[in-house]
Formats: sequence, structure tokens, C-alpha cells
Amino acid sequence: MLVRGPVMPFNELRKDYLLDRWVVIATERGRRPTDFAKQERQQAKTGVCPMCLGNEHMTPPAVLVYLKSSKGIKKTKDKDDLRHENWLIRVIPNLFPAFSPPEDKMSQKQLMKDSYLGMAVGHHEVLVESPNHDEHPANARITQLVHVVNGYIDRLLELSAKPYVQYVSIFRNHGLEAGASLSHAHSQIIATPFVPRIVKEEIDASREFWKQNKKCVFCDIIEKERAGPRSILENSKFVVFSPFASVNPMEFWIFPKEHETSLLDMSQVEVKAFAETLKSCLSGLKVLVNDPPYNFGFHLAINKEASDYYHWHLEVYPRLAIWAGFEKSTGVYINTMTPETTAESLRKVSACEPNETS
Ligand SMILES: [Zn+2]
Ligand SMILES: [Zn+2]
Ligand SMILES: [Zn+2]
Repeated sequence: MLVRGPVMPFNELRKDYLLDRWVVIATERGRRPTDFAKQERQQAKTGVCPMCLGNEHMTPPAVLVYLKSSKGIKKTKDKDDLRHENWLIRVIPNLFPAFSPPEDKMSQKQLMKDSYLGMAVGHHEVLVESPNHDEHPANARITQLVHVVNGYIDRLLELSAKPYVQYVSIFRNHGLEAGASLSHAHSQIIATPFVPRIVKEEIDASREFWKQNKKCVFCDIIEKERAGPRSILENSKFVVFSPFASVNPMEFWIFPKEHETSLLDMSQVEVKAFAETLKSCLSGLKVLVNDPPYNFGFHLAINKEASDYYHWHLEVYPRLAIWAGFEKSTGVYINTMTPETTAESLRKVSACEPNETS
């Protein structure tokens, strides 16, 4: 005999820790990772890959190249017709940039005509993560991922120092459905002349919290989540959990345990630990859900003022749901997998391998 619940079941309504963003957690139709694993994955078109080793001439000159040298890593850049070969990673300007550097001596008035109209000044770069076409973070060697993270840091350092740059977004699209039109392992870096809305809302809310409580709201969130039902992984340097009001099935966030405002605060020990943490979680996701498309993006602050109250993190959004009319027209989301289910599943497959050195 079927046993029915005593009352009509309600879905849960959850609000983000800081953002004014509501999510309906459809607990009653609760899905499992296996429900999404069967989906067909679309492949990017294959052809000559401009990011593969030997095809450097197909791209603009790199603004940063890591080369192997007898003394470790040599950092350099391409010049005019010169393209370095046998690189470990390289960062190139995007061929179709969304934001481009201003011409010399452009005044603030020229850049921003009024509060509704400005010029999209900034930078748009592609970080080629490996000479190997398929060396995505879930399969990459830790040493290679360390180069990638150091590449992010080097570019963040240079771009965030420019007077017209207010934010540097570092993100990754994986899979055609997540917007990666080229399948070679790569990330993107976009420097913008304003702080994008979601990050601004986080910064504003954390500043308010700090004013009232004299502590970092993210440090508080980490403390609450690390031992709870949404926790996924913890090692000496990082904590990973599925956020309380996750918008996406299988969404997870990675936080440094140290209170740090941006990637620039990381030590080399932390860089390696971050590479291991990222690899563990993304391999877990790959195994569980059959290499799903995903996007990830760092949230950080480049403004020194924010160092008391803002705490950088990486947000990973697997692309498993299709957002349609309701989500697009209201900014309210329906998530069919509870963050607790996400955490429980990822916890089982994302064991960190701290001894891995290759
Ligand atoms: Zn390639
Ligand atoms: Zn903090
Ligand atoms: Zn965030």
C-alpha cells in the first residue's frame, strides 16, 4: 500500500546568503545525479585547433607565456611575429574581444559619456591551459593546474593595476552547451571598467555585515557549512560545499580557509592545494554526471578597501537545467536537486589526493 504524506508537500523557498535571490528547491520531485548522467553531450566541432601546440601563428601574440627552463618556469611574452613554442601555458588576447584597452590619454569623460552609456574598455583574454588539447582540470596533472592558477594570478596582478579596470573576471566554460565553442582546455579573463552586479551585491552586503558585526560574513558561512549536510570536502587550506540556496543542480563553491580577498593573497602552498581541490571536485562531477557542461567563475575584490570584509571564492555551476520563461523573466530559480543531495553525492567521489605530485 502506498503511504501518502500527511499534508500537501510544499517545496522549499531558500534565499542566498547575501544576494536578494530566491530559489525554489523542488524537494518533492527531488532528482539524483544519475538522472542527469544520461543526457547526450554535444561535442564542439573538430578541425584545426588554434590552441594546440604548433598552431601559435593562428593566434595574436601571447601576452604571457610560461616556458620550461633549467631554473624552473620562465615567464615571457610573444612579440610581433615571434611566437614562442613548447610552452606550458599561454595567454592570448581574444580575437573577438568584448572589452578592449582604451587608447592613450582617453579621459574619464570620453570613457563614460553618462551613467547609461560608456565604452566597453578593458581586456578580454584566453588562457590556454595546456599544450594537450584534452587536459581539462578533471584530467590534468596537478603541476599543470598549478601553472594555470599561477597564470590567473599573474594576469590578475597586471590587469587589476590598470586605472580603468574595476574588476577582473576569471572564468571557464566547459562543453558546447556551456558556451565553449573550442574544446581545447582554456579559461577566459575579462577585465571590466565597473564591478559586475552579482559581485557588487556580495561586496556591498559583506561590507554591511562587517560594519555591524566586525567580522567577515564569508568566514561565518564557511564555519557554518563545513561540518553541515552541504559540506563536500575539506583539506588543510580549502572548504568546499554546496550553497544553501543553490541555483543549479550539483552546484558547489570552493573557499580558502584563510581570510583572503583575492587570488593575489594566495601562497604557493595554497595554489597547489587549490589545484588539488579543484581537480578532486571536477573529477567527482565528471564521474557522477558523465562529464557535464559547466561554467565556473571566481568572485574576488581588487579594491584594497574590501580586504577586511570580502573573501574570494570559486563558484561552479554545472549546466544541467534549462532556464526558461520564469527564471529569465523573474530572476527566481527552480532547482530540482537539493544542495544536500548534491553534497552527499559529491562527497563520496571527491576524495582529495594530497600525495599526488605528478
Ligand atoms: Zn587543441
Ligand atoms: Zn573571510
Ligand atoms: Zn560569490
